[in-house]
Amino acid sequence: MSICTTCPYCGVGCGVIASPDGQGGVQIQGDPNHPANFGRLCSKGSALGETVDLTGRLLHPMVGGQQASWDTALDLVAQKFKAAIGTYGPDSVGFYVSGQLLTEDYYVANKLMKGFIGSANIDTNSRLCMSSSVAGHKRAFGTDTVPGTYADIEQADLVVLVGSNLAWCHPVLFQRLVAARKDHGTKVVVIDPRRTASCDIADLHLPLKTGSDVALFNGLLSAIAQADAVDRTYLQHVNGFDAALDIAQQVDLTKTGLDPQKLQDFYDLWVAHKNVVTIYSQGVNQSANGTDKVNAILNCHLATGRIGRPGMGPFSVTGQPNAMGGREVGGLANMLACHLDIENPDHRACVADFWDVPNVADKPGRKAVDLFKAAGNGQIKALWIIHTNPAVSMPDAAAVRAAIKSCDFVVVSDLTDQTDTAQLADVVLPAAGWGEKDGTVTNSDRTISRQRAFLPIPGQARADWAQLAEVGRRMGWQHAFDYQTPAQIFREYAALSGRAGALGKDFDISGFSDLKDTDYATLPPTRWPVTASRRGGRFFADGVFYTPNHKAQMLAVKQADLPSKRSAKYPYRLNTGRIRDQWHTMTRSAKSPRLSAHLAEPFLELHPKDATDLGLSPSDIVRLNSPTGTALLRVLISDAVSPGNPFAPIHWTGETAPSGRIDDLVTANVDPFSGQPDSKASVVSVEKFHANWYGYAITTQTPNPNTAYWAKARVAGGWRLELAADDVPDNWETYARSLLGLSDGDVISVLDKARGHARIAILRDGIVVGALFAGPDPIAVSRDYLAGQLGQNSPRILAGRPGADMPDPGPTLCSCFGVGVNTILTAIETQGLINVDAIGVALQAGTNCGSCKPELTALLGRAQVKVAAE
Ligand code: SF4
Repeated sequence: MSICTTCPYCGVGCGVIASPDGQGGVQIQGDPNHPANFGRLCSKGSALGETVDLTGRLLHPMVGGQQASWDTALDLVAQKFKAAIGTYGPDSVGFYVSGQLLTEDYYVANKLMKGFIGSANIDTNSRLCMSSSVAGHKRAFGTDTVPGTYADIEQADLVVLVGSNLAWCHPVLFQRLVAARKDHGTKVVVIDPRRTASCDIADLHLPLKTGSDVALFNGLLSAIAQADAVDRTYLQHVNGFDAALDIAQQVDLTKTGLDPQKLQDFYDLWVAHKNVVTIYSQGVNQSANGTDKVNAILNCHLATGRIGRPGMGPFSVTGQPNAMGGREVGGLANMLACHLDIENPDHRACVADFWDVPNVADKPGRKAVDLFKAAGNGQIKALWIIHTNPAVSMPDAAAVRAAIKSCDFVVVSDLTDQTDTAQLADVVLPAAGWGEKDGTVTNSDRTISRQRAFLPIPGQARADWAQLAEVGRRMGWQHAFDYQTPAQIFREYAALSGRAGALGKDFDISGFSDLKDTDYATLPPTRWPVTASRRGGRFFADGVFYTPNHKAQMLAVKQADLPSKRSAKYPYRLNTGRIRDQWHTMTRSAKSPRLSAHLAEPFLELHPKDATDLGLSPSDIVRLNSPTGTALLRVLISDAVSPGNPFAPIHWTGETAPSGRIDDLVTANVDPFSGQPDSKASVVSVEKFHANWYGYAITTQTPNPNTAYWAKARVAGGWRLELAADDVPDNWETYARSLLGLSDGDVISVLDKARGHARIAILRDGIVVGALFAGPDPIAVSRDYLAGQLGQNSPRILAGRPGADMPDPGPTLCSCFGVGVNTILTAIETQGLINVDAIGVALQAGTNCGSCKPELTALLGRAQVKVAAE
């Protein structure tokens, strides 16, 4: 039977139809009826079926590294939390949760911490993602509300992407934009220091200097006023226009580093197109002045009244499946549930009355960075981390690992006990995963969708809400946490939102408070609010806001200097972000060989001038140092970044590439209003890493690398490995067997001791089960071809590449159909393919999820340049 559910990755919140095969596997397709995606999926969503197997799953509680019963584990958790609270007070404990939690999980966690423990020390990893948008929304609108809907993107005449690589990070929204552009000629402007895949459809790319967004949008506000494009009628609903404009007119646009004519072109486009949607994401939020950046954007929409109407408005897109749900349900340390304010005594009294407790927490709790600092300095004695991996994903991650290690008592709830964080915990609780758990999520345009179970919960794993409720009961609050189903929790949450609605709050889903279990089971995607009088729609076109005087507030915001300064010691500014086919710290997406084929190791994108200055060649490995840590990365020379401003992805961990943990390099500077870390502007040094040998390996077994640099990735039937080290093995064959986890099998090899080359393959009954290629320089072999030789009778294995009769497909570009770069380039040249559609017809590439289309466009460009030069 097929089940309609929701993708567990990004904040687009695509509907998925899952068809289990009855043997633990599942077929995945996009849900044509879901309003987020109308049947589309990106490469990550399409590969979900490859991520639900039980490899690496934790199936029973662990206490002190030993298997334990649930009773033992939960009693210990309840007792440790109670003891800390009893001795040191409620603020001595904390929860660090995640946008992977379902709303029902979040609700129980928030109720337990803010209502019953009596502290607001619960924060979510959404703090790292979009808390600056939350703070900006609250300052301007009096509420954290996204005004518009995804349909606005299709109705806009101009879409501006600010600090958002929509093509890779919200691919289905990008596909909707591409389609709109084709149908209506939508103009697209990308504002990003880096030339990303999203630029492939841009009419204009503004590669602004890192962090100069406030200057750019102050310039826009000034240009709006100069062009007399201010909506004076709408301004009746807005405070602060004159002060904001006054500051904006003092802007020094040279701070953006942009060509003045290009800036003017952007301003002219914005003024000329009333239907403008400004989409912004981590490039805006992850900044020490992220909240001011958000308000600089909102100012322009408020001044022109371009908000809350079809085809126009500011649009913060969230990075996680339930980041929005977490904001609504009180997952952030500075908010109560249902957009109620922790500082407001009436709001606190409302929640306390609803939960039947004397008080709720009366002051904001510790935000993520402060929470881990407090764990490190002994102020937090007991910490529960749920579905997130802060040992890798927090800034200054090495210090966070030390803090977790030193904290008196740490519990982790997750799918596996192998994450960098779980390995440091006293107790690890096995959690239900996507496909097994049941509840709701809210996507970036306020649509609440069901995540439904279609697989049995394996072993002794339990849903997060059930774990939290059980601890609440064991701490003495039996009645308050007597939950049996997620539907029961959802109804309670909906009823609380009705109280918030009565206090004048916009987040009101009280229309669901009497939802029957059967209606919850079949709940279709529904945009909030949901009340007796209102369902869905947009906000703020009517000029009614949620501030005390019901007017919007424009903020007088100034361009700030970046907190980390370049110096002779740290001359480069490091930008960080996501790649197309991986998700966060890869605990799920790295299970898919298809996804791992796209970019299989951590890398540093570096401008050619920097590479020349540093004496680097393609494929060299570089060492990065920052004031907080160090990393080793493969260099990828590219003019997509500007000189001095390299980029590195965030995904690799101690499990997949320990020296590639980027957040070790990121300084924990935070925005003063949101507490969001400045993840894209750390200063670093870059130098060539001189290894004595480099290697590439494949194996059917779990490998055991221990070199200075290594990165492993899944391939069909095994693993591939990149290696670099100083110590040259005495005996390559012995080393290969140990590295590849292959103690048996026949060895064939070519060894050249004098030149330091080794090529070794291990065969069982003539079938390749492992191979190692090593030498004194970065290894030039056909990686994807070799990965495909595992499990094959491959007489040419030691050649490291296919014979002349079998062309080398090159690195995989289309993950869905496994089509390599060389195959595509050859087809472009030999078949005269002139556009992406023609490549699709010839090779299928780009015809499933479409996530690779921007890269196909880039390849077409490369091929055309080559033809023109010939
Ligand atoms: Fe999932 Fe991709 Fe949709 Fe995001 S765009 S929700 S990752 S299918």
